[in-house]
Amino acid sequence: MPFQNIKGRENILKKILITLLVLTLTGAVAFTLYFRLRPAETSENPIIENVDEDIEIKDDSVVEENTSENYCLTCGQETAPENANLRPLAVIIENHPAARPQSGLEDACIVYEVVAEGGITRFLAIYTHKNCNNIGPVRSVRKYFAEIAKGYDAMLAHCGGSPTGYLAIKELHLADLDEFANSGAYRRVSSRKMPHNLYTSTKRLRERAEKKNFASNVSYESFKFKNDAPLEKRPEETYAIIDFSTPKFKVKYEYNRENNSYSRFMGGMQHKDSNSGKQLEAKNILVLITSIRVVDKIGRVDISTLGSGPAYAFLDGTVITGRWTRESLSNTIKFYDQSEKEIALNRGQTWIEIISPDKKVDFPEFQG
Ligand SMILES: [Zn+2]
Repeated sequence: MPFQNIKGRENILKKILITLLVLTLTGAVAFTLYFRLRPAETSENPIIENVDEDIEIKDDSVVEENTSENYCLTCGQETAPENANLRPLAVIIENHPAARPQSGLEDACIVYEVVAEGGITRFLAIYTHKNCNNIGPVRSVRKYFAEIAKGYDAMLAHCGGSPTGYLAIKELHLADLDEFANSGAYRRVSSRKMPHNLYTSTKRLRERAEKKNFASNVSYESFKFKNDAPLEKRPEETYAIIDFSTPKFKVKYEYNRENNSYSRFMGGMQHKDSNSGKQLEAKNILVLITSIRVVDKIGRVDISTLGSGPAYAFLDGTVITGRWTRESLSNTIKFYDQSEKEIALNRGQTWIEIISPDKKVDFPEFQG
């Protein structure tokens, strides 16, 4: 039937033409609407801003879990896989003015700073991924230091201790590297007077630990880590001051915008590391407020790091007001913001400052 075929072809051609016409008209309307409704690209209203916003969101919100074997479990810094989850070494370092400048604080992943006796502060420095060949002066342990070390399942390096400190080591089954029983891992230097002259190294401590058959790798809860805030989001300058006791123990951190870190001052002077001569720099400062009470005639204190309490987190030039929490001595201390979200820290060294509620933390108003 040739006639019907011609008629059929005409119908198909008509349909195609109508479809093309509808598509062309729709396209033209959409094109016109787009250019009519689109905001003008002026200097006040640069459309390119949208692109910047996308990039900023990407840079600032990346929170990475510690799943990668290339990042130190304790501080989030990039390292060789064999160093990432080494068993942490927790070393007690003193802060008596005669002990300054200390050696090796710059190589710690985390440093805890708390008051010991008579307003004198003392440090618990945790070494995981970095080696340090000169750490000290090493001093004696207190109960609360042993309890903090337990959260990391760390090996504890110290020189003697208070009775409750020793009891805590025993009861918590800590891997103990006391100088009294492991003197080969330590040395006394002649350039300083006793008791401010005892030093050690990560190599000596780890060798000693191996002889004692301590596990060389352990697991523990760590912080969440993120990338640094982009430069344009960082403030020009800011600071944080922590008043532990007397002016000699007053700590100040000054913010460096370029490095996104905080330079540490102690007793009104730059706090330098004796090994490098460089001023100590922290990426994050966490302030933990808890009960600290005197428990004996010597003035020794008991510090509670269990439960929960107020906290401040200083990072990226800003301060987050929140709370700290710790469920048991086998857990590490965690920090949360006011919406109960765990605070993600910048990769690098963190200082954790433990103070009682009557002590002052100062920082500029605009930060909060
Ligand atoms: Zn580390």
